[in-house]
Amino acid sequence: MTLNPTTIPKDFLGLSADELNKRIIEVKAKLGKRLLILGHHYMSDDVIAHANERGDSFALAKIAAQTDAEFIVFCGVHFMAETADIVTTTAQKVFIPDPGAGCFLADCARIRDVEDAWQEIKSMTSEIIVPITYVNSGADMKAFCGDNGGLVCTSSNAARALKWAFERGEKVFFFPDQHLGRNTAFAMGIPLNEIILWDPDEPLGGNSLETIKQARVILWDGFCIVHQEFNVDYIEKLRQDDPQINIIVHPECDFDVAQVADYMGSTAYIIRMIAEAPSGSHWAVATERNLVNRLKKAYPDKRIEILQFFEPYCKSMAQINLTNLAYQLDQIDHGNLINQVIVEEQYAVSARIALNRMLELTQ
Ligand code: SF4
Repeated sequence: MTLNPTTIPKDFLGLSADELNKRIIEVKAKLGKRLLILGHHYMSDDVIAHANERGDSFALAKIAAQTDAEFIVFCGVHFMAETADIVTTTAQKVFIPDPGAGCFLADCARIRDVEDAWQEIKSMTSEIIVPITYVNSGADMKAFCGDNGGLVCTSSNAARALKWAFERGEKVFFFPDQHLGRNTAFAMGIPLNEIILWDPDEPLGGNSLETIKQARVILWDGFCIVHQEFNVDYIEKLRQDDPQINIIVHPECDFDVAQVADYMGSTAYIIRMIAEAPSGSHWAVATERNLVNRLKKAYPDKRIEILQFFEPYCKSMAQINLTNLAYQLDQIDHGNLINQVIVEEQYAVSARIALNRMLELTQ
């Protein structure tokens, strides 16, 4: 759930980038360890420059769970700030500089539809079904998993989450990102005829009773609008032009794209692969442009490009900018706790169970 953004006063909106940077630095220095700014890799350069820690959603959730900071300012999208609020104590406060920064993918699944589908699927089989929600989902979805013996996953640990689930049940109900679910399950050796899609607008989710009974993974019909921009035709064209190119893609990409790619993995995996690649190597990367452009700058000895002729970017991530970050810090400094993200306790308790099961996967 996202909230309306706070109105920023006109005099603040007129400040130059230099002045905004100066104010951010001043508040950071004043609050010291009481303040922690977390920045997702898809943030713009000017925002990420102020992050105390940067990472993908998994890394940032882990950092949030471990910090003692009193004020945590999350430069990312709303579900990430919600996750941070769930894993921190009640004495800690989590803020997002624009609470209207949602996530297209997270909004693909509404809890009422997921609950209806769950009841329908359960009525058709006696097998144990384990729900898994991608971290890109609302707190209510995470709570649903906590209440029903399931867990949260990120793109870094989706395979481990599926393994965990299959140690406890025969079927997995995976939402909201069909591509992460399908790409991960297939890579684990589950054939496509045992991975089905659930369309909430169709009777039986658009399946026959027989296919539901034989399915091992039931995927919600959701997707990330940014990662849909990458396609096989462009990969083929790039390979014709440059036979040395390495294609690396995020698992939110289509199955066809993932199948023809050389490598597939989370944001952290993409960063590590390129960092460790030999000097002079060529890379085409299928993920958000801010990350790809930063990789280009960080490794000028390698040829790095985005896997598309234009630069797909996440409009929601772009809602966090230097102005609203500076205003957020200014208001915290003045004791005005605007844009605080508070997950209702009715969801937080159960969602924490599902998140902790995920955090324990890595131990
Ligand atoms: S890139 Fe996709 S999944 Fe990530 S925040 Fe944007 S819409 Fe959501």
